[in-house]
Amino acid sequence: MIAADFKPDLEGWRQEARKFLEAGIEPSKILWSKESGSLSLFGSTDPDMKVLSAPGGRFQVPAEFLEWAQLISSAADADRWDLLYRILFRLKYERKDLLKFSVDPDIARAELLMKTLRRDIHKMHAFVRFKKTDVDGREHYVAWHKPEHPILKLGAPFFARRFGDRTWSIFTPDESAHWDLGEIKYGPGMPQHEFQAEDAFDGVWQTYYASIFNPARVKIKAMKAEMSPQYWSSMPETALIPELVRNAPARLQEMAKNQNRQAEPPAGASLTELRAAAQSCSACPIVHRAQNLVFGEGPESARLMIVGEQPGDREDQEGRPFVGPAGEVLDECLRAAGIDRADVYVTSAVKHFKWRESETGSKIRIHQKASGSEMHACKPWLEAEIARVKPALIVALGATAGTALLGRLPKVKEERGRLFESALAPAILLSWHPAAILRSFSEDERRERLEDLKMDLAQAQNFLSQNENPKAPDSCLPQS
Ligand code: SF4
Repeated sequence: MIAADFKPDLEGWRQEARKFLEAGIEPSKILWSKESGSLSLFGSTDPDMKVLSAPGGRFQVPAEFLEWAQLISSAADADRWDLLYRILFRLKYERKDLLKFSVDPDIARAELLMKTLRRDIHKMHAFVRFKKTDVDGREHYVAWHKPEHPILKLGAPFFARRFGDRTWSIFTPDESAHWDLGEIKYGPGMPQHEFQAEDAFDGVWQTYYASIFNPARVKIKAMKAEMSPQYWSSMPETALIPELVRNAPARLQEMAKNQNRQAEPPAGASLTELRAAAQSCSACPIVHRAQNLVFGEGPESARLMIVGEQPGDREDQEGRPFVGPAGEVLDECLRAAGIDRADVYVTSAVKHFKWRESETGSKIRIHQKASGSEMHACKPWLEAEIARVKPALIVALGATAGTALLGRLPKVKEERGRLFESALAPAILLSWHPAAILRSFSEDERRERLEDLKMDLAQAQNFLSQNENPKAPDSCLPQS
């Protein structure tokens, strides 16, 4: 039996393993660590030791194995070095494609270990909480975290990428990482009771956590599995969990109430009064991030109403419907169909702009689709506009407007250009939303959709000129 003599890190193991491998020493004859074997032998030879002769040709370690070794070498398990050498040995002397055999006990063990390690790294990324401190008059951020395995070197580069513009240190019980704006340096660890820092960040995390906490998803067992209590002590927001859980039923009721909320337009109001009333609508949360209400505009005498989905970025800034790029497409199609926009009442199914931040950090506000409950909340405004304008025909642009007007999710590609009967107006015609034209997959698709919209608007114009009825009869209008 040979006792391996190496620095217990990947490089140390590699050098030692290379020697054994070249000498053809079988894995069972090597003791990599005292804990992983029952023997504690430090002699250099064993009478039973079996030495294999290497197969012909040069042995090249597969690149995939090097990745495995990097991960597995960070495990806390005492048998990690034995496992790695066993696999390496078998790759050379048994089969080159061994790594593909997940049913092999060594490969299965390695894959399980790697899964655990990846999960541990993921938890480090998710649960590390920095606190602001002052070091020599300079701002410095510090955190303490206890991973299951010593994976700090694998986990720390993520923080250098994400928080590369400030200096920070992460301490674990075994080692520490320190970012100085140029490189990560590693040092000794620190027990939690020695870790002292100011609490400037705790309040921020608590506020953030409370704002994202969703009582509908409270599953204590799952929370414990995902966020093991071992991490709780270093996470300020976990102090809130008992109270949040206690209040969950009341918050759930509140959420359910809000889900069914609807705008309440004043009965019998004029378009101007409706618009004024909608200014103070807060029936759904979209309003909190929008700059302006974008109510419909156009003459009350309009026989044609065009309904879009919701305002976009430009519409939100200007407080007017269809003034951005999608509006330009609509104008082009209206002109092609011989329709004067000044004669049309143009509005949308949802009156505020719903958006999210860009993942790239750019300032562009990314459009987000309104949810079913948000559309439901906003629908009374659309119905009130329809009841006031009494259009002879409504053109619904896109699936969202189609859903609001038809009461089901239509298939725009298949159903566009058709006239539908409705309780809201004598007829509803479905077509492409101009934004869908702009987002077309290819130039051919864009051209095709553009032609479709022009054709559908021409059909709308044709419908209006053939239809004697100047306005919708009261019998087919929603009660406002
Ligand atoms: S989107 Fe509609 S329901 Fe929601 S706040 Fe705005 S006007 Fe009210």
